[in-house]
Amino acid sequence: MRSPVPSVAVSLTAVLLGSAFAPGPDLRDVVHARIRSEYASLRAIYEHLHAHPELSFMEVNTSALMARELRAVGIDVTEKVGRLGVVGVLRNGPGPTVLVRTDMDALPLKETTGVAYASTAVVKDLQGRDQPAMHACGHDVHMTSFIGTARTLVAVRDRWSGTVVFVAQPAEEIVAGARAMLDDGLYTRFPKPDFALAFHDDAMLPAGTVGYREGPLMSGASSLDIVVRGVSGHGSAPQTAKDPVLLASQIVVALQAIVSREVAPGTRAVVTVGTIHGGLKRNIIPDEVKLELTLRAFDPAVMARLVASVRRITDGTARAFGVPEDRMPVVTVEESVGVTANDPALTRRLAKVFTEWMGADRVSKVEPVNAAEDFSLFGQTAERVPSVLWRVGATAPEKFAESTRTGVPVPSNHNSGFAPVPELTITTGVTTMTAAVLELLAKL
Ligand SMILES: [Zn+2]
Ligand SMILES: [Zn+2]
Repeated sequence: MRSPVPSVAVSLTAVLLGSAFAPGPDLRDVVHARIRSEYASLRAIYEHLHAHPELSFMEVNTSALMARELRAVGIDVTEKVGRLGVVGVLRNGPGPTVLVRTDMDALPLKETTGVAYASTAVVKDLQGRDQPAMHACGHDVHMTSFIGTARTLVAVRDRWSGTVVFVAQPAEEIVAGARAMLDDGLYTRFPKPDFALAFHDDAMLPAGTVGYREGPLMSGASSLDIVVRGVSGHGSAPQTAKDPVLLASQIVVALQAIVSREVAPGTRAVVTVGTIHGGLKRNIIPDEVKLELTLRAFDPAVMARLVASVRRITDGTARAFGVPEDRMPVVTVEESVGVTANDPALTRRLAKVFTEWMGADRVSKVEPVNAAEDFSLFGQTAERVPSVLWRVGATAPEKFAESTRTGVPVPSNHNSGFAPVPELTITTGVTTMTAAVLELLAKL
Protein backbone atom coordinates (compact mmCIF):
# COMPACT_ATOMS: atom_id res chain seq x y z
CA MET A 1 0.00 0.00 0.00
CA ARG A 2 1.26 3.46 -0.90
CA SER A 3 2.15 5.79 1.98
CA PRO A 4 0.19 9.07 1.96
CA VAL A 5 3.29 11.14 2.78
CA PRO A 6 6.69 10.92 1.06
CA SER A 7 9.01 8.58 2.89
CA VAL A 8 11.67 10.45 4.85
CA ALA A 9 13.95 7.43 4.77
CA VAL A 10 13.97 7.38 0.95
CA SER A 11 14.70 11.11 0.67
CA LEU A 12 17.50 10.84 3.20
CA THR A 13 19.06 7.90 1.40
CA ALA A 14 19.02 9.83 -1.86
CA VAL A 15 20.76 12.80 -0.25
CA LEU A 16 23.38 10.65 1.51
CA LEU A 17 24.24 8.58 -1.55
CA GLY A 18 24.39 11.49 -3.92
CA SER A 19 24.36 11.38 -7.68
CA ALA A 20 26.92 8.58 -8.01
CA PHE A 21 24.18 6.16 -6.98
CA ALA A 22 21.34 7.81 -8.81
CA PRO A 23 19.67 5.25 -11.04
CA GLY A 24 21.05 5.34 -14.58
CA PRO A 25 18.78 5.64 -17.60
CA ASP A 26 16.25 2.88 -17.68
CA LEU A 27 17.78 -0.26 -19.16
CA ARG A 28 14.86 -0.71 -21.51
CA ASP A 29 15.36 2.78 -22.98
CA VAL A 30 19.07 2.11 -23.43
CA VAL A 31 18.38 -1.18 -25.22
CA HIS A 32 15.66 0.27 -27.46
CA ALA A 33 17.96 3.17 -28.43
CA ARG A 34 20.81 0.77 -29.13
CA ILE A 35 18.66 -1.40 -31.38
CA ARG A 36 17.47 1.68 -33.27
CA SER A 37 21.04 2.82 -33.81
CA GLU A 38 22.11 -0.67 -35.02
CA TYR A 39 19.20 -1.09 -37.41
CA ALA A 40 20.75 0.38 -40.58
CA SER A 41 23.73 -1.94 -40.27
CA LEU A 42 21.52 -4.92 -39.40
CA ARG A 43 19.33 -4.20 -42.42
CA ALA A 44 22.39 -4.35 -44.70
CA ILE A 45 23.36 -7.72 -43.18
CA TYR A 46 19.80 -8.97 -43.62
CA GLU A 47 19.68 -8.00 -47.30
CA HIS A 48 23.05 -9.64 -47.89
CA LEU A 49 22.01 -12.87 -46.17
CA HIS A 50 18.69 -12.87 -47.99
CA ALA A 51 20.31 -12.46 -51.39
CA HIS A 52 22.94 -15.15 -50.66
CA PRO A 53 21.09 -18.18 -49.31
CA GLU A 54 22.86 -21.50 -48.75
CA LEU A 55 21.26 -24.90 -48.29
CA SER A 56 21.45 -27.32 -45.35
CA PHE A 57 25.03 -28.32 -44.39
CA MET A 58 26.29 -26.07 -47.22
CA GLU A 59 26.27 -22.81 -45.16
CA VAL A 60 29.97 -22.10 -45.78
CA ASN A 61 29.82 -18.34 -46.40
CA THR A 62 26.90 -17.83 -44.03
CA SER A 63 28.67 -19.45 -41.09
CA ALA A 64 31.85 -17.48 -41.87
CA LEU A 65 29.82 -14.27 -41.73
CA MET A 66 28.28 -15.27 -38.40
CA ALA A 67 31.73 -16.03 -36.96
CA ARG A 68 33.09 -12.70 -38.24
CA GLU A 69 30.22 -10.69 -36.77
CA LEU A 70 30.51 -12.32 -33.35
CA ARG A 71 34.29 -11.81 -33.31
CA ALA A 72 33.81 -8.17 -34.29
CA VAL A 73 32.20 -7.48 -30.91
CA GLY A 74 34.86 -9.38 -28.96
CA ILE A 75 33.08 -12.72 -28.55
CA ASP A 76 35.23 -15.86 -28.34
CA VAL A 77 34.30 -17.89 -31.45
CA THR A 78 34.81 -21.53 -32.43
CA GLU A 79 33.88 -22.62 -35.95
CA LYS A 80 33.05 -25.98 -37.54
CA VAL A 81 31.24 -27.39 -34.51
CA GLY A 82 28.96 -30.07 -35.99
CA ARG A 83 30.21 -29.49 -39.55
CA LEU A 84 29.37 -25.81 -40.11
CA GLY A 85 28.09 -24.74 -36.68
CA VAL A 86 29.45 -21.62 -34.98
CA VAL A 87 29.72 -21.21 -31.19
CA GLY A 88 30.42 -17.81 -29.59
CA VAL A 89 31.05 -17.62 -25.86
CA LEU A 90 30.53 -14.28 -24.11
CA ARG A 91 31.76 -14.53 -20.50
CA ASN A 92 30.67 -11.61 -18.35
CA GLY A 93 31.13 -12.46 -14.69
CA PRO A 94 29.43 -14.93 -12.36
CA GLY A 95 25.92 -16.15 -13.02
CA PRO A 96 23.95 -18.60 -15.13
CA THR A 97 24.68 -19.58 -18.73
CA VAL A 98 22.13 -18.88 -21.45
CA LEU A 99 22.25 -20.50 -24.89
CA VAL A 100 20.94 -18.30 -27.72
CA ARG A 101 20.33 -20.16 -30.96
CA THR A 102 19.87 -19.22 -34.59
CA ASP A 103 19.64 -21.49 -37.59
CA MET A 104 21.36 -20.64 -40.88
CA ASP A 105 20.02 -22.69 -43.78
CA ALA A 106 17.74 -21.72 -46.67
CA LEU A 107 15.35 -23.81 -48.77
CA PRO A 108 15.50 -25.13 -52.35
CA LEU A 109 12.86 -22.77 -53.76
CA LYS A 110 12.86 -20.12 -56.49
CA GLU A 111 11.97 -16.82 -54.85
CA THR A 112 8.87 -15.01 -56.14
CA THR A 113 8.56 -12.19 -53.57
CA GLY A 114 9.66 -9.44 -55.95
CA VAL A 115 11.55 -7.60 -53.17
CA ALA A 116 14.57 -5.57 -54.30
CA TYR A 117 16.97 -7.86 -52.44
CA ALA A 118 15.31 -11.09 -53.67
CA SER A 119 17.50 -14.13 -54.14
CA THR A 120 18.31 -15.25 -57.67
CA ALA A 121 20.85 -17.73 -56.39
CA VAL A 122 21.33 -21.21 -57.77
CA VAL A 123 23.52 -23.19 -55.38
CA LYS A 124 24.71 -26.74 -54.78
CA ASP A 125 22.80 -28.90 -52.36
CA LEU A 126 24.39 -31.52 -50.15
CA GLN A 127 24.03 -34.10 -52.94
CA GLY A 128 25.86 -31.81 -55.39
CA ARG A 129 22.78 -30.88 -57.40
CA ASP A 130 22.15 -27.28 -58.55
CA GLN A 131 19.10 -25.80 -56.84
CA PRO A 132 17.44 -22.41 -56.72
CA ALA A 133 17.62 -21.24 -53.11
CA MET A 134 15.74 -18.82 -50.93
CA HIS A 135 15.40 -17.93 -47.25
CA ALA A 136 11.73 -18.93 -47.30
CA CYS A 137 11.71 -19.86 -43.61
CA GLY A 138 13.24 -16.56 -42.49
CA HIS A 139 16.43 -17.98 -41.00
CA ASP A 140 18.04 -14.78 -42.35
CA VAL A 141 15.78 -12.87 -39.94
CA HIS A 142 16.95 -15.15 -37.12
CA MET A 143 20.63 -14.62 -37.97
CA THR A 144 20.29 -10.85 -38.27
CA SER A 145 18.48 -10.66 -34.93
CA PHE A 146 21.13 -12.93 -33.40
CA ILE A 147 23.87 -10.50 -34.47
CA GLY A 148 21.77 -7.59 -33.18
CA THR A 149 21.33 -9.37 -29.84
CA ALA A 150 25.08 -10.03 -29.54
CA ARG A 151 25.90 -6.38 -30.28
CA THR A 152 23.28 -5.11 -27.82
CA LEU A 153 24.30 -7.44 -25.00
CA VAL A 154 27.96 -6.46 -25.44
CA ALA A 155 26.99 -2.77 -25.40
CA VAL A 156 25.16 -3.13 -22.06
CA ARG A 157 27.50 -5.66 -20.48
CA ASP A 158 27.82 -3.58 -17.31
CA ARG A 159 24.11 -4.18 -16.71
CA TRP A 160 24.12 -8.00 -16.56
CA SER A 161 26.27 -10.85 -15.25
CA GLY A 162 26.73 -14.41 -16.51
CA THR A 163 27.63 -16.21 -19.72
CA VAL A 164 25.93 -16.26 -23.10
CA VAL A 165 26.65 -19.07 -25.55
CA PHE A 166 25.69 -17.98 -29.06
CA VAL A 167 24.91 -21.00 -31.25
CA ALA A 168 24.50 -20.64 -35.03
CA GLN A 169 23.44 -24.07 -36.23
CA PRO A 170 23.47 -25.47 -39.74
CA ALA A 171 20.89 -27.75 -41.35
CA GLU A 172 17.72 -27.03 -39.39
CA GLU A 173 15.56 -27.72 -42.43
CA ILE A 174 16.70 -31.34 -42.53
CA VAL A 175 16.56 -31.49 -38.70
CA ALA A 176 20.20 -32.59 -38.55
CA GLY A 177 22.24 -29.56 -37.44
CA ALA A 178 21.36 -29.48 -33.73
CA ARG A 179 22.18 -33.19 -33.42
CA ALA A 180 25.50 -32.66 -35.25
CA MET A 181 26.50 -29.83 -32.86
CA LEU A 182 25.51 -31.78 -29.72
CA ASP A 183 27.39 -34.84 -31.00
CA ASP A 184 30.43 -32.62 -31.58
CA GLY A 185 30.57 -31.60 -27.93
CA LEU A 186 28.38 -28.50 -27.68
CA TYR A 187 27.66 -29.28 -24.01
CA THR A 188 31.14 -30.55 -23.13
CA ARG A 189 33.57 -28.25 -24.98
CA PHE A 190 31.62 -25.09 -24.12
CA PRO A 191 29.83 -23.83 -20.99
CA LYS A 192 26.79 -25.98 -20.32
CA PRO A 193 23.62 -23.88 -20.53
CA ASP A 194 21.12 -23.40 -17.72
CA PHE A 195 18.58 -22.13 -20.25
CA ALA A 196 18.23 -22.42 -24.04
CA LEU A 197 16.40 -19.78 -26.09
CA ALA A 198 15.31 -19.36 -29.71
CA PHE A 199 12.58 -17.72 -31.68
CA HIS A 200 11.07 -18.45 -35.06
CA ASP A 201 9.55 -15.86 -37.36
CA ASP A 202 5.95 -16.55 -38.29
CA ALA A 203 4.01 -15.39 -41.34
CA MET A 204 0.78 -16.08 -39.47
CA LEU A 205 1.42 -13.35 -36.88
CA PRO A 206 1.54 -9.60 -37.58
CA ALA A 207 5.05 -8.11 -37.45
CA GLY A 208 5.73 -6.32 -34.18
CA THR A 209 3.99 -9.00 -32.13
CA VAL A 210 5.15 -12.20 -30.45
CA GLY A 211 3.40 -15.48 -29.69
CA TYR A 212 4.23 -17.89 -26.89
CA ARG A 213 2.93 -21.17 -25.61
CA GLU A 214 3.67 -23.22 -22.50
CA GLY A 215 4.32 -26.89 -23.26
CA PRO A 216 4.15 -28.40 -26.75
CA LEU A 217 4.50 -25.73 -29.46
CA MET A 218 5.75 -27.67 -32.48
CA SER A 219 5.19 -31.26 -33.48
CA GLY A 220 7.52 -34.20 -33.71
CA ALA A 221 8.45 -35.19 -37.25
CA SER A 222 9.65 -38.34 -38.96
CA SER A 223 10.93 -38.49 -42.52
CA LEU A 224 10.31 -41.80 -44.28
CA ASP A 225 11.47 -43.06 -47.65
CA ILE A 226 9.64 -45.83 -49.45
CA VAL A 227 11.20 -47.59 -52.40
CA VAL A 228 8.35 -49.35 -54.21
CA ARG A 229 9.90 -52.11 -56.29
CA GLY A 230 8.33 -53.97 -59.17
CA VAL A 231 9.45 -55.92 -62.20
CA SER A 232 10.26 -53.88 -65.30
CA GLY A 233 8.96 -54.61 -68.75
CA HIS A 234 7.59 -53.23 -71.99
CA GLY A 235 4.76 -50.74 -71.57
CA SER A 236 2.77 -52.68 -74.13
CA ALA A 237 3.05 -55.97 -72.23
CA PRO A 238 2.06 -55.26 -68.59
CA GLN A 239 1.28 -58.93 -68.00
CA THR A 240 5.04 -59.65 -68.10
CA ALA A 241 5.82 -57.02 -65.45
CA LYS A 242 4.84 -55.82 -61.95
CA ASP A 243 4.11 -52.12 -62.40
CA PRO A 244 5.57 -50.08 -59.49
CA VAL A 245 3.92 -46.86 -60.79
CA LEU A 246 0.44 -48.32 -60.26
CA LEU A 247 1.47 -49.92 -56.97
CA ALA A 248 2.98 -46.66 -55.67
CA SER A 249 -0.20 -44.82 -56.63
CA GLN A 250 -2.30 -47.30 -54.67
CA ILE A 251 0.02 -46.98 -51.66
CA VAL A 252 -0.22 -43.16 -51.70
CA VAL A 253 -4.03 -43.37 -51.65
CA ALA A 254 -4.12 -46.16 -49.04
CA LEU A 255 -1.88 -44.15 -46.68
CA GLN A 256 -4.55 -41.45 -46.48
CA ALA A 257 -6.67 -43.81 -44.37
CA ILE A 258 -4.17 -43.70 -41.48
CA VAL A 259 -5.06 -40.24 -40.17
CA SER A 260 -8.74 -40.46 -41.10
CA ARG A 261 -9.37 -44.00 -39.75
CA GLU A 262 -6.66 -44.97 -37.29
CA VAL A 263 -6.08 -41.76 -35.29
CA ALA A 264 -8.74 -40.48 -32.90
CA PRO A 265 -10.54 -37.39 -34.21
CA GLY A 266 -9.05 -34.29 -32.61
CA THR A 267 -5.59 -35.87 -32.18
CA ARG A 268 -3.00 -34.03 -34.22
CA ALA A 269 -1.37 -36.17 -36.92
CA VAL A 270 -0.24 -35.66 -40.51
CA VAL A 271 0.89 -38.10 -43.20
CA THR A 272 2.14 -36.32 -46.34
CA VAL A 273 3.72 -37.91 -49.39
CA GLY A 274 5.84 -34.99 -50.61
CA THR A 275 7.63 -36.54 -53.57
CA ILE A 276 7.01 -39.38 -56.01
CA HIS A 277 9.63 -40.24 -58.58
CA GLY A 278 9.86 -43.11 -61.00
CA GLY A 279 10.21 -44.11 -64.60
CA LEU A 280 12.33 -42.90 -67.51
CA LYS A 281 10.26 -43.41 -70.63
CA ARG A 282 6.55 -43.69 -71.42
CA ASN A 283 6.73 -47.20 -72.82
CA ILE A 284 8.86 -48.76 -70.11
CA ILE A 285 7.40 -50.14 -66.90
CA PRO A 286 10.19 -49.18 -64.50
CA ASP A 287 11.91 -51.19 -61.79
CA GLU A 288 11.08 -48.88 -58.93
CA VAL A 289 9.34 -45.73 -57.71
CA LYS A 290 10.56 -43.66 -54.79
CA LEU A 291 8.27 -41.89 -52.33
CA GLU A 292 9.36 -39.38 -49.68
CA LEU A 293 7.05 -38.83 -46.72
CA THR A 294 6.86 -36.55 -43.74
CA LEU A 295 4.87 -37.59 -40.66
CA ARG A 296 3.87 -35.20 -37.85
CA ALA A 297 2.48 -35.91 -34.38
CA PHE A 298 2.58 -34.35 -30.91
CA ASP A 299 2.44 -37.66 -29.04
CA PRO A 300 5.29 -40.18 -29.42
CA ALA A 301 2.79 -43.07 -29.22
CA VAL A 302 0.82 -41.55 -32.11
CA MET A 303 4.05 -41.13 -34.11
CA ALA A 304 4.97 -44.77 -33.48
CA ARG A 305 1.51 -45.77 -34.71
CA LEU A 306 1.89 -43.67 -37.88
CA VAL A 307 5.23 -45.26 -38.72
CA ALA A 308 3.95 -48.78 -38.04
CA SER A 309 0.84 -48.14 -40.15
CA VAL A 310 2.87 -46.83 -43.10
CA ARG A 311 4.95 -50.02 -42.97
CA ARG A 312 1.89 -52.30 -42.68
CA ILE A 313 -0.09 -50.61 -45.48
CA THR A 314 2.91 -50.45 -47.81
CA ASP A 315 3.73 -54.09 -47.22
CA GLY A 316 0.10 -55.25 -47.42
CA THR A 317 -0.66 -53.34 -50.61
CA ALA A 318 2.44 -54.81 -52.27
CA ARG A 319 1.43 -58.33 -51.23
CA ALA A 320 -2.10 -57.84 -52.59
CA PHE A 321 -0.51 -56.66 -55.83
CA GLY A 322 1.46 -59.89 -56.10
CA VAL A 323 4.97 -58.45 -55.81
CA PRO A 324 7.54 -61.27 -55.50
CA GLU A 325 8.96 -61.72 -51.99
CA ASP A 326 12.41 -60.45 -53.00
CA ARG A 327 10.92 -57.26 -54.54
CA MET A 328 8.85 -56.13 -51.55
CA PRO A 329 8.97 -52.37 -50.81
CA VAL A 330 11.73 -51.01 -48.59
CA VAL A 331 10.64 -48.48 -45.94
CA THR A 332 13.36 -46.47 -44.16
CA VAL A 333 13.04 -43.86 -41.43
CA GLU A 334 15.54 -41.24 -42.58
CA GLU A 335 15.35 -38.86 -39.62
CA SER A 336 13.08 -38.01 -36.75
CA VAL A 337 12.83 -35.25 -34.20
CA GLY A 338 10.75 -34.97 -31.05
CA VAL A 339 8.13 -32.44 -30.06
CA THR A 340 9.32 -28.89 -29.29
CA ALA A 341 7.92 -28.39 -25.80
CA ASN A 342 8.49 -25.12 -23.96
CA ASP A 343 9.40 -25.27 -20.28
CA PRO A 344 6.20 -23.95 -18.64
CA ALA A 345 7.79 -21.94 -15.79
CA LEU A 346 10.40 -20.35 -18.06
CA THR A 347 7.73 -19.56 -20.67
CA ARG A 348 5.57 -17.78 -18.09
CA ARG A 349 8.60 -15.81 -16.91
CA LEU A 350 9.50 -14.71 -20.43
CA ALA A 351 5.91 -13.92 -21.43
CA LYS A 352 5.80 -11.51 -18.48
CA VAL A 353 9.08 -9.93 -19.61
CA PHE A 354 7.85 -9.55 -23.21
CA THR A 355 4.66 -7.92 -21.95
CA GLU A 356 6.69 -5.46 -19.85
CA TRP A 357 8.97 -4.59 -22.74
CA MET A 358 6.45 -4.54 -25.61
CA GLY A 359 3.01 -4.00 -24.10
CA ALA A 360 0.26 -6.57 -23.53
CA ASP A 361 -1.37 -5.88 -26.92
CA ARG A 362 1.72 -7.17 -28.73
CA VAL A 363 2.09 -10.46 -26.85
CA SER A 364 -0.33 -13.36 -27.28
CA LYS A 365 -0.72 -17.03 -26.56
CA VAL A 366 -0.59 -19.12 -29.77
CA GLU A 367 -1.81 -22.56 -30.80
CA PRO A 368 0.64 -25.38 -31.52
CA VAL A 369 1.67 -25.93 -35.14
CA ASN A 370 2.46 -29.12 -37.04
CA ALA A 371 5.84 -27.79 -38.18
CA ALA A 372 8.86 -29.37 -36.48
CA GLU A 373 12.11 -27.92 -35.12
CA ASP A 374 15.38 -29.51 -34.08
CA PHE A 375 15.82 -26.76 -31.45
CA SER A 376 13.93 -29.23 -29.25
CA LEU A 377 17.10 -31.38 -29.10
CA PHE A 378 18.96 -28.74 -27.06
CA GLY A 379 16.48 -29.40 -24.25
CA GLN A 380 16.31 -33.18 -24.63
CA THR A 381 19.83 -34.21 -23.60
CA ALA A 382 20.52 -35.78 -20.18
CA GLU A 383 20.94 -32.23 -18.79
CA ARG A 384 17.26 -31.45 -19.56
CA VAL A 385 18.05 -27.77 -20.15
CA PRO A 386 14.82 -25.73 -19.78
CA SER A 387 14.17 -24.28 -23.21
CA VAL A 388 11.73 -21.89 -24.83
CA LEU A 389 11.10 -21.07 -28.47
CA TRP A 390 8.71 -18.21 -29.15
CA ARG A 391 7.25 -16.89 -32.37
CA VAL A 392 7.92 -13.47 -33.83
CA GLY A 393 5.37 -12.01 -36.27
CA ALA A 394 6.70 -11.42 -39.80
CA THR A 395 3.79 -10.21 -41.92
CA ALA A 396 3.20 -6.48 -42.43
CA PRO A 397 0.32 -5.55 -40.09
CA GLU A 398 -1.70 -4.01 -42.95
CA LYS A 399 -1.29 -7.14 -45.09
CA PHE A 400 -2.30 -9.24 -42.13
CA ALA A 401 -5.44 -7.15 -41.58
CA GLU A 402 -6.31 -7.41 -45.27
CA SER A 403 -5.89 -11.18 -45.20
CA THR A 404 -8.15 -11.43 -42.15
CA ARG A 405 -10.77 -9.32 -43.99
CA THR A 406 -10.63 -11.12 -47.36
CA GLY A 407 -9.89 -14.63 -46.15
CA VAL A 408 -7.04 -14.88 -48.69
CA PRO A 409 -4.09 -16.34 -46.74
CA VAL A 410 -0.75 -14.51 -46.65
CA PRO A 411 2.22 -16.48 -48.07
CA SER A 412 3.29 -18.81 -45.26
CA ASN A 413 6.79 -19.83 -44.24
CA HIS A 414 8.20 -22.19 -46.92
CA ASN A 415 6.17 -20.40 -49.62
CA SER A 416 8.22 -18.85 -52.44
CA GLY A 417 6.37 -15.57 -51.78
CA PHE A 418 7.20 -15.42 -48.06
CA ALA A 419 8.53 -11.90 -47.46
CA PRO A 420 8.91 -10.83 -43.84
CA VAL A 421 8.68 -7.08 -43.32
CA PRO A 422 12.28 -6.53 -42.23
CA GLU A 423 12.37 -3.67 -39.71
CA LEU A 424 9.53 -4.68 -37.40
CA THR A 425 10.40 -8.37 -37.57
CA ILE A 426 14.12 -7.97 -36.94
CA THR A 427 13.79 -5.34 -34.19
CA THR A 428 11.14 -7.44 -32.43
CA GLY A 429 13.48 -10.43 -32.66
CA VAL A 430 16.40 -8.47 -31.17
CA THR A 431 14.24 -6.83 -28.49
CA THR A 432 12.66 -10.05 -27.26
CA MET A 433 15.89 -12.07 -27.30
CA THR A 434 17.84 -9.31 -25.54
CA ALA A 435 15.06 -8.83 -22.97
CA ALA A 436 14.95 -12.58 -22.30
CA VAL A 437 18.72 -12.82 -21.74
CA LEU A 438 18.74 -9.72 -19.51
CA GLU A 439 15.94 -11.23 -17.42
CA LEU A 440 17.87 -14.49 -16.92
CA LEU A 441 21.23 -12.79 -16.32
CA ALA A 442 20.05 -9.80 -14.29
CA LYS A 443 22.60 -8.36 -11.87
CA LEU A 444 21.35 -9.12 -8.38
ZN1 LIG B 1 11.59 -24.14 -42.24
ZN1 LIG C 1 12.62 -22.45 -39.92
